[in-house]
Amino acid sequence: MARIKYIAGNWKMNKLSGEAVALAQGIVKEAGNFDCKIMIAPPFTALCEVGKVVKGTNVLLGAQNMSNKVSGAYTGEVSPEMLKDLGVSVVILGHSERRGYYGETDEFINSKIKLALEQGLDVILCVGETLAQREAGKAADVVTSQVQNGLKDISECALEHITIAYEPVWAIGTGKTATAQDADAIHKVIREKLASLYSADAAEKMIIQYGGSMKPENAAGLLAMPNIDGGLIGGAALKADSFVALLKCTK
Ligand code: PEP
Repeated sequence: MARIKYIAGNWKMNKLSGEAVALAQGIVKEAGNFDCKIMIAPPFTALCEVGKVVKGTNVLLGAQNMSNKVSGAYTGEVSPEMLKDLGVSVVILGHSERRGYYGETDEFINSKIKLALEQGLDVILCVGETLAQREAGKAADVVTSQVQNGLKDISECALEHITIAYEPVWAIGTGKTATAQDADAIHKVIREKLASLYSADAAEKMIIQYGGSMKPENAAGLLAMPNIDGGLIGGAALKADSFVALLKCTK
């Protein structure tokens, strides 16, 4: 079964509203030429304006995070309904920067994933090992346990709303990319884990993105691997030219 390629841009804490609109316009202008699935995740402050740019196009609007609560006295949080109100259909959860800088645990991430699904949002679940964990030979164990705990109590039929992004922490924003072979090996381990948790069919259908210094120069090699179905892109998603060049690598 051929899985569709999925390219997603995580803009992180970059771009003021006007800059975000210009970037989104540059992407939308070209996006119609591609059959792959495309998502951009601006900062919360630009979601409203970027939402207007992508409305009615083949570019999905994503959020970089979401509260695990529906509404109420949670100062500074953003609820799933608030995101949907702006046209968001996908939320990135469990990014290593949320895990590392803000102490998000697998359990907390799992609670957000369940709420996102209940609220009709699709999810990109990020997993990945640190350099120390890789050097200790624990990459596969760390990643499979993040997958298992992140997906706790989530049914097989909900998996069609979930994408997994394998993002080795040591490769994010560092310019160091996992080799295509090393990345594919972990993607394969993730797929095998999904087969044991759910079924071979569910594992085969799951889109597993790679993330970590993916750029036009290395994307074709990564995307040619049998278990790599797309990319979650940070730095190279901040310019329309490089993001569009990444889309071209899916062809
Ligand atoms: C990311 O943060 O998801 C990411 C992959 O960043 P970069 O592409 O900059 O390494």
